[in-house]
Amino acid sequence: MTDPHLGDAHRELAGRFREFGERHLRAVARDEDQPADRAREVGTLLGEAGLLRGAVPEPFGAADARSILVARERLAYFSLLAEMVFASQALAAHLLGAAGTDVQKERWLSSLVSGAVLGSAALAEPEAGSDLAAVRTTAKSDGSLWRLSGVKSWVTGAGVVGVYVVLAREAGAEGPEGLALFLVDGGAPDVAAKPVEATAALPVGELRLDASPAVRLGEPGKALRLVGRAFERLRPGAAGAACGLATRALEETVRHLLSRRQFGRPLSGFQSPRMAVADMHAEVEAARRLALHAAWLADSGAEDAPRAAAAARIVATSAAERTVDRALHLHGAQGLVRGSTVERLFREARALRLREGTLELVRLELAEAILKESR
Ligand SMILES: Cc1cc2nc3c(=O)[nH]c(=O)nc-3n(C[C@H](O)[C@H](O)[C@H](O)COP(=O)(O)OP(=O)(O)OC[C@H]3O[C@@H](n4cnc5c(N)ncnc54)[C@H](O)[C@@H]3O)c2cc1C
Repeated sequence: MTDPHLGDAHRELAGRFREFGERHLRAVARDEDQPADRAREVGTLLGEAGLLRGAVPEPFGAADARSILVARERLAYFSLLAEMVFASQALAAHLLGAAGTDVQKERWLSSLVSGAVLGSAALAEPEAGSDLAAVRTTAKSDGSLWRLSGVKSWVTGAGVVGVYVVLAREAGAEGPEGLALFLVDGGAPDVAAKPVEATAALPVGELRLDASPAVRLGEPGKALRLVGRAFERLRPGAAGAACGLATRALEETVRHLLSRRQFGRPLSGFQSPRMAVADMHAEVEAARRLALHAAWLADSGAEDAPRAAAAARIVATSAAERTVDRALHLHGAQGLVRGSTVERLFREARALRLREGTLELVRLELAEAILKESR
């Protein structure tokens, strides 16, 4: 990947993720069979390869926005499940890094960076998806601990991670100011996980907390801001993941067009598939440049970095959906066969629009920033 926004260290990192993917992720069939177990396995392998450093902020790791982007792009090229494990680790680590005490950071970030512990953020609930201010899971003080009760939904790595960063409401406290973040040990007996069977191999599930012991992470009243900032920090990477998935779809299509023959010649000889290839490439390339620029702005601490990241996520997610859709069509009926790579990418691409805040919410956030400036 040649780009002026990336330094030698990022290029070297991209190479390591590519090697990791070739070695451990090419065969994705197992992702589909047992997503949760596979997520645990992939997380451990990433840790052993030293590749979770890019998910954890300094000084424990080295998670600048460009490293996160490079990682997520490379992983999504091979397997969205693997990319989700990395992104989830990064979200948990960023929340811990931003809100944790020195003792909490020492305890958890050193384990998250080695992969000894996998982490996840349990924010959403059945009645609180986009509207996280509506979270109902309650936290009751119990001496030096807290006891959490409630249901969290769509938790990445539910049942397999070692630590959850949970968004909950302090008992009796109303509104967004009543919310706080808590750390819950994944191994506690009163933490029950149930996998969700999704259309793609997504390692997600529901989490039931029944007076589960927890410690508070950060001050109450700041939780939603912390979550918003962590999402913002990971957003160029979310755009990168979309580009990785789209790149794979394009490569699969090119291979297919060169090998599939109709009317006595390869499909690549006909004008309309050729046009499609050019359009797909142009769209993915534009999205990738925007994502890299957004990551570079974030690493430079630029004021307009959040806007660039939002624009990149919107453009890249849409580009991925269009590219995968075209890829499927250019594969003809073969594209509909369950288990083919483009069919899998098609199912995976749908998740990109929803997780880490839906695309609609990102668009509303960006519109608000633009309009505010002109008021
Ligand atoms: C693959 C995947 C992984 C996930 N991982 C995690 C995780 O690790 N931890 C976690 O806590 N959550 C996770 N989630 C949950 C995710 O954050 C939510 O799915 C997302 O926030 C949307 O919530 P919802 O699904 O309840 O949809 P809803 O909030 O019910 O929204 C439904 C539709 O309405 C639209 N909508 C909602 N409000 C508005 C509005 N104000 N204006 C315009 N449109 C609106 C949405 O854009 C969407 O299209 C994951 C989800 C997916 C798909």
